[in-house]
Amino acid sequence: MEFSSKLLENAVYEMSQLPGIGKRTALRLVLHLLKQPEERTELLAHALLKLKSEVNFCKNCHNISDTELCEICANPKRDETIVCVVEDIRDVMAIENTSQYNGLYHVLGGKISPMEGVGPQDLNIASLVNKVKNGVVKELILALSSTMEGDTTNFYIYKQLDGLEVTTSTIARGISVGDELEYADEVTLGRSIINRVPFESSIKAN
Ligand SMILES: [Zn+2]
Repeated sequence: MEFSSKLLENAVYEMSQLPGIGKRTALRLVLHLLKQPEERTELLAHALLKLKSEVNFCKNCHNISDTELCEICANPKRDETIVCVVEDIRDVMAIENTSQYNGLYHVLGGKISPMEGVGPQDLNIASLVNKVKNGVVKELILALSSTMEGDTTNFYIYKQLDGLEVTTSTIARGISVGDELEYADEVTLGRSIINRVPFESSIKAN
């Protein structure tokens, strides 16, 4: 892509570094911003910088939160004996939307992916195992999407829990292989949480 302006080229380049944004989309977004009043761009830039510098993660579940404990962890009505293990905040939002789950979450921050250089030590797995060792948690629901990375991560966690007093379950596979939780419809996702199955049986099924 040939640019008539270095300033434009730089802005398009930075925009195109975002996931799912190709050069053409980046150019469209940048030209859109250029047409807007300057304060729109300032508000956008300011919101992003403020998020980046002030973002906080719940000290219990690692969900993004403005307070030390997120609203879910701080809610005494939630059942702290059940913990749903998810990849990121999008999964928490999707499951919360179903209104079918009253336990807590544990946000891993990603999935094990040797291809992308993400190992178990890069994720919030040690704190999850510690949480189980502390004895409050009676059930872990492994709710990572059923991609190869999701399965690998579920299985790794399951092995780490070997010998600990905890029931491990996984969301029922109403959600087909490869679907991300984020995109599953609320009814299907809600049902699959209610009808969760022991993790052992899901390994045997594969
Ligand atoms: Zn929390």
